[in-house]
Amino acid sequence: MANHSNGNSNHTESSFKIPPIKFTKLFINGDFVDSVSGKTLDTIDPRTGEVITKVSLGDAEDIDLAVKAARQAFDHGPWPRMSGSERGLIMLKFADLIEKNADELAALDAVNGGKVFALCKVIDVAEASKALRYYAGAADKIHGTVLKLSKGLHGYTLREPIGVVGSIIPWNFPTVMFFMKTAPALAAGCTIVLKPAEQTPLSALYYAHLAKLAGVPDGVLNVVNGHGHTTGAAISSHMDIDKVTFTGSTEVGRKIMTAAAASNLKPVSLELGGKSPLLIFDDADIDQAAEIAFRALFFNKGEICVASSRVFVQEGIYEKIEKKLIEKAKATVVGDPFDPKVHQGPQTDKKQFEKILSYIELGKREGATLLTGGNRVGQKGYYIEPTIFANVKDDMTIAREEIFGPVMSLMKFRTMEEVIKRANDTTYGLAAGIITKNLNVANTVSRSIRAGVIWINCYTAFDVDCPYGGYKMSGFGRDYGLDALNQYLQTKSVVTPVVDSPCTIGSFDEDP
Ligand code: NAD
Repeated sequence: MANHSNGNSNHTESSFKIPPIKFTKLFINGDFVDSVSGKTLDTIDPRTGEVITKVSLGDAEDIDLAVKAARQAFDHGPWPRMSGSERGLIMLKFADLIEKNADELAALDAVNGGKVFALCKVIDVAEASKALRYYAGAADKIHGTVLKLSKGLHGYTLREPIGVVGSIIPWNFPTVMFFMKTAPALAAGCTIVLKPAEQTPLSALYYAHLAKLAGVPDGVLNVVNGHGHTTGAAISSHMDIDKVTFTGSTEVGRKIMTAAAASNLKPVSLELGGKSPLLIFDDADIDQAAEIAFRALFFNKGEICVASSRVFVQEGIYEKIEKKLIEKAKATVVGDPFDPKVHQGPQTDKKQFEKILSYIELGKREGATLLTGGNRVGQKGYYIEPTIFANVKDDMTIAREEIFGPVMSLMKFRTMEEVIKRANDTTYGLAAGIITKNLNVANTVSRSIRAGVIWINCYTAFDVDCPYGGYKMSGFGRDYGLDALNQYLQTKSVVTPVVDSPCTIGSFDEDP
């Protein structure tokens, strides 16, 4: 395919052969099954807009069957009853199987989500096995506390699995999200009904198959494909699901919370949108700062909830950073994510592609200066040039709303106090970055910004041992770390008299 319109980046195609798609049905109670309705959903290749395959399309009835299986597995099956170390061993085997099949799994996310194949393998798929191993190690360290109570009583707390977990995940990191949600829930002894995003169901079905091979008992992990307003809504309103965990848009997060409250008051954890600021101070190393800023937004074609879509640069180095960023954008190779030369693949779907292009038009109309990019790349598929706007005002739509694409807004600032105020001037609070050599500045800013994660002199530096989640309208609850494990556990207190003395039982009005 020819270079795109203004020559900012090169568009390539690859001859990589996509592996045959093996799993396309719903995975319920340990078996791949057709949906009750028999309906299917086209799965699209964003490189071309063409159909890769059809997957079974679940609906409320299929969710109901999956919940019944998960309920049975939770109430009567071995998973919550086996020791943590036994669960851990199965999870370790699951991790090994993922590593053995890494090429095929990475290819599924690349063809389904337009993600760069090589990165999928070393980041997404590698993170999956890492998450399983981390939580496998935690599974036999779940315990309560001993309580020395008054009135001749003693007690202890049990940390018990919360029950059947409904998990609704987005399309930008199909593999990472799958394990962010399932690995801690499995370690806790929960059973799961997971709905992948309608755009990217393929790797989730493969993971269900590997879970079975590893020895995860039937009914423990169920995967039901389907649309959000039907299949997803059936999860959040289900009376027999004990908890919902969700990653996606703030708008849908609100719907899920409402449905959870209106049904059985199930607790929810929500990882939602962001409009994360990156603050580059005058003392920063120019090359390093530009590199961090570029990756912080353009990684995964800007389809990442923590993307630093507002880049604030202190005035002394602004021009130099701007120049470097433009150079990087122009050097970016946009094209087939299977081509090893390519840095940026297509946006995940047509809706997202059109939404991003409309934000670019809006940025131009509202008076921001388009420094580079702004166009579609090629004539087919959902490719967009890395795009950078300057002279972005804090109240412009592109500075306030989540674009979720390769569109950066550059802003200039003078003082630390000013930039803290502007960085916090958002309804979101997912992440922020600070680039400076001055420890006082780094410490002051990191304590002043209201966001769930602050990266200093780095960005998107994820680790399974580090909790992630939002402040403000970016949601609540944490993925990763032991915080996430705790979200799948609940505390039961057990109280008993120290000695078998009937007079202490029920005696609440005086100490012995
Ligand atoms: P979305 O929030 O609509 O979808 C995410 C998941 O929620 C999908 O599995 C979807 O099927 C499901 N869902 C949708 N409606 C539902 C409902 N009523 N009840 C239950 N589940 C429902 O996200 P999207 O439309 O795919 O993308 C829209 C915007 O969301 C993006 O442009 C981006 O701004 C944001 N987003 C954020 C993240 C993130 O990681 N925080 C991920 C994806 C998208």
